[in-house]
Amino acid sequence: MSEDYSKTIAEEQEKNRMLEKALEDAENANMAKTAFLSNMSHEIRTPMNAIIGLYNIAIKNPDLPDETREILDKIGGSANHLLSLINDILDMSRIESGKLVIKKQDFSFGDMLEQINTMVEAQCTDKGLEFECHVKGHLSDYYISDEMKLKQILINILGNAVKFTDAPGRITFLVEEEKKDKKYSYIRFVIKDTGIGIDEDYIPKIFEPFSQEVEGTSNKYGSTGLGLAITKRIVDMMKGTIEVESTKNVGSTFTLVIPLGISEKTGSDEDFNPGSIKTLILDDDLNACEHAQMVLGRIGIAADYCLDGKEALSILEKSKARQDPYKLFLVDWKMPGMDGIEVTRALRQELKDDFTTVILTTYNWDEIMDEALKAGVDAFLAKPLFARSIRKEIKEIMQEKRKRYRDGAKKVSLKGRKVLIAEDMDINALIMKQILKMKEVEADHASDGLEAISMFEKSAVGEYAAILMDIRMPKCDGLRATELIRKLDREDAKSVPVIALSANAFDEDVELSLKAGLNAHLSKPVEPDALFKTLEKFIGDKSEEEDKENG
Ligand code: ADP
Repeated sequence: MSEDYSKTIAEEQEKNRMLEKALEDAENANMAKTAFLSNMSHEIRTPMNAIIGLYNIAIKNPDLPDETREILDKIGGSANHLLSLINDILDMSRIESGKLVIKKQDFSFGDMLEQINTMVEAQCTDKGLEFECHVKGHLSDYYISDEMKLKQILINILGNAVKFTDAPGRITFLVEEEKKDKKYSYIRFVIKDTGIGIDEDYIPKIFEPFSQEVEGTSNKYGSTGLGLAITKRIVDMMKGTIEVESTKNVGSTFTLVIPLGISEKTGSDEDFNPGSIKTLILDDDLNACEHAQMVLGRIGIAADYCLDGKEALSILEKSKARQDPYKLFLVDWKMPGMDGIEVTRALRQELKDDFTTVILTTYNWDEIMDEALKAGVDAFLAKPLFARSIRKEIKEIMQEKRKRYRDGAKKVSLKGRKVLIAEDMDINALIMKQILKMKEVEADHASDGLEAISMFEKSAVGEYAAILMDIRMPKCDGLRATELIRKLDREDAKSVPVIALSANAFDEDVELSLKAGLNAHLSKPVEPDALFKTLEKFIGDKSEEEDKENG
């Protein structure tokens, strides 16, 4: 009996050992599968980038026969689809292998929304859809979370909304705080479309990998069926929720609630300093002037006022001469004599473009928008001003103006300039050179980070107008190379624009690269127009630089 008993125990133990072994084997196999997928995807991404890069070059040729153009477009479309599939597989395998972590960092919520909205708005315009974003109630300037991941999930859902809605349709994006406790703000994001809708039976399966309601969706809409699976997993990791409601042929609504950590940081000291925005108010109504002065005063903006256009012009001119210029000019639209637009026009003729003009109006400004913008008006505000929203409104207006001023001022010709390309794959360097040639930009090629440093060191000061820096390179990667270049003892070491090239806009690379002293980032395959725009933005005007050197 005891023998039997011990035999049974031994059998049990043996069985357990086998089970454990089987489990271990399965886990190993699963890990091997994930690692294999991940490695393969990385490998496939390189030639894919080359295909898309060459497509981008070929399609720019104006003399293509229609048939060839059609074929090329199909190649481009398929290649882009394949690349997004690969990027999704990489993301999925990172999630499954536990490599994906949710970071906790302060980030500017407003900046994030602006980036998302700019992108989605462009997609909507292309498709003939209306897009609206409402931010309701109070939201902080900063929160703590993983900005990249949050952006990724929102873009994913908004992207689907655009993809599955045909013109004339409408996408709305609502953002508001649902509740708040000591540590977290629970932010609700509602993304609503008037598109094809989702079948009731399919909704429970929507977050499963590779699920698509209709087979062949991938062909019509360029889908992968992984987007929502990835989104759901990231939302879970962020301890948030995601829900879908939909009616076939009416539209779909995705609702996310994501807890975002409350940040100590406020926007005010960072990039918005109300104390430095000296303001002049012009309104023929004394009460309105006093009210505006009081509201601005509450957020720390010191404002003077006057009641007449001519007086305003002379005050502004004097202040400029005193080297204590007004930065912001709030002007009433409807006034006897010169109206707000006429004053602005006169002002722009007299003074340079370094102050901001806002038209105050109780009316809808659509009808005067075009004329006003032409006259040099930067923005509109509804009268009366409200203390609750004025801070945010002024901040946005000033930031937008600064951005436009900078972009406008720096727009330069790229012709005849020279850039350094640091890129280990010859084919990518070749593609980049071809793209640059379209704008008559010359390029030298370094095949790794070390070579890039040494070529930059040997070049004359100012010879390279910019460096295009691949991030993943053997010997010395792009981040390290940039750090070393920034430390070189030469005049242009800190100022030469270094633009990172990385494979995936959502990779950690992007964040790291900006931290390492790179100025901007482009994802591969590089779109010619995006490259030119970035170069124009960062490359200074040659004549300006020469002036500086000479004087
Ligand atoms: P993909 O969009 O790449 O196919 P997703 O995982 O993002 O993959 O979406 C899975 C499927 O869910 C889509 O193929 C589509 O059938 C459906 N779907 C997602 N969003 C919407 C939407 N806004 N409207 C209609 N169908 C949608």
